[in-house]
Amino acid sequence: MPAAATGLADKVLVGGVIDGHNIWRGDLAGAFANLEALRGLGARAVAATTSTSLLHVPHDVEDESTLDARLVSWLAFADQKVGQIVTLARGLAEGRVAIEEELSAASDALADRLSAPGVQDGAVRARAAALGEADFSRAPYAERESAQAEALRLPALPLTTIGSFPQTGDIRRARAQFTKGVIPASDYEDFLRAEIDRVIVLQEDLGLDVLVHGEPERNDMVQYFAENLDGFAVTEHGWVQSYGSRATRPSILWGDVSRPAPITVPWSTYAQSLTVKPVKGMLTGPVTILAWSFVRDDQPLGETADQVALALRDEIADLEAAGIGVIQVDEPALRELLPLKKADQPAYLEWSVNSFRLATGGAASATQVHTHLCYSEFGVVIDAIRALDADVTSIEAARSRMEVVADISASGFDHGIGPGVYDIHSPRVPTAAEVEGLLRRAAEEIPNRQLWVNPDCGLKTRGYDETVASLRNIVEATQRVREDISVGA
Ligand code: GLN
Ligand code: ZN
Repeated sequence: MPAAATGLADKVLVGGVIDGHNIWRGDLAGAFANLEALRGLGARAVAATTSTSLLHVPHDVEDESTLDARLVSWLAFADQKVGQIVTLARGLAEGRVAIEEELSAASDALADRLSAPGVQDGAVRARAAALGEADFSRAPYAERESAQAEALRLPALPLTTIGSFPQTGDIRRARAQFTKGVIPASDYEDFLRAEIDRVIVLQEDLGLDVLVHGEPERNDMVQYFAENLDGFAVTEHGWVQSYGSRATRPSILWGDVSRPAPITVPWSTYAQSLTVKPVKGMLTGPVTILAWSFVRDDQPLGETADQVALALRDEIADLEAAGIGVIQVDEPALRELLPLKKADQPAYLEWSVNSFRLATGGAASATQVHTHLCYSEFGVVIDAIRALDADVTSIEAARSRMEVVADISASGFDHGIGPGVYDIHSPRVPTAAEVEGLLRRAAEEIPNRQLWVNPDCGLKTRGYDETVASLRNIVEATQRVREDISVGA
């Protein structure tokens, strides 16, 4: 097109042709073709850049010493992306022939990636292809509710926590020593079992109803699963900013996902062996695993999510078979991944909700499935939360002073719900009177038979002193409120 027609004759066009969001080396020849197409628009000049700033990706893939060399050849972190831009710029200046070698090396790597073993696993694909509607549904809620009441015999306003207990310096030290090979696996496992012993005794002393093992074995709720599932790789130095000054080290989901062996079963069953109270199995859901990892870009997210869901479904079956009757599947990222564009939301909500339903759809009626969401914008995703069909959902509510209960009640949500009564983002210990106030506020809107009592989120960032003091006050407040109610009210 002549420059006059596009009005670009005195403009520089900057093509963001290298994806700044993902860590794939990608299709460099395609990127160059896009730049050449831009050049056809008749601007004064065309320049190359990344589609976004590079804060979403780690620094340098060359820093990784443990990643498989073949996987490395498929990757581009920030330094490699800058290198790609330099290559493209040279191509713009000197012509395609000058960068032919780089373009074909990238194309070869891409072709190699798409055909490499593990990227497509026949068994995983056959299983996903054979799924039918029944795999996504459990028995009707009423049937589950009575089977669970019978199996669990919980009091009114059951008390539980979200999963993690404080990750102390001791825990982090032991993990670092184990990772560095300073202590053998057997010592590390002894240490973790001793941690679980303490956490179970503590919860029994406090008088909680559904206990947790405390997650001492997890460095991170996503990376832990990535380390134990096929199809993922974990980096050593791949830190990226998550928010503010916080950084995370996302795993790389590069291939078809499957579970070589049970992951959480030994820890959950060990914890359950220590107590007659139910211990909640603790899993991270497919959406959150995808949201907090670098994911493959060669298939729709929903397909990847279903693969993760099937691995979790097997884990749930193994937990059940080992006698775990309450299982939580955390989905704190469900809201976070919701597309900004309204038009894209229904498709997202469909695959995300379905992946949760697929993960949990095999659970027996008597198995109580919990989920946890880290925010209080219940109204925004209420239909999706309802569609998850979890027996119990815990959400943040203390920080927002129980604002959310009005939305919950207005929506007619009729499954178990635990609006948080302890803001774990702060070291402050809520008084029993304060927690009682929050609980009574919740009880005004939510029928007693649905109401659970729990903190806003996991306790991993808190210290033990404040955690114990807060939980004590929560128990005291709950006992006071229980005195005034009768189940079924
Ligand atoms: N089970 C996790 C924990 O307690 C949930 C954390 C989260 O919601 N981010 O730490
Ligand atoms: Zn949370």
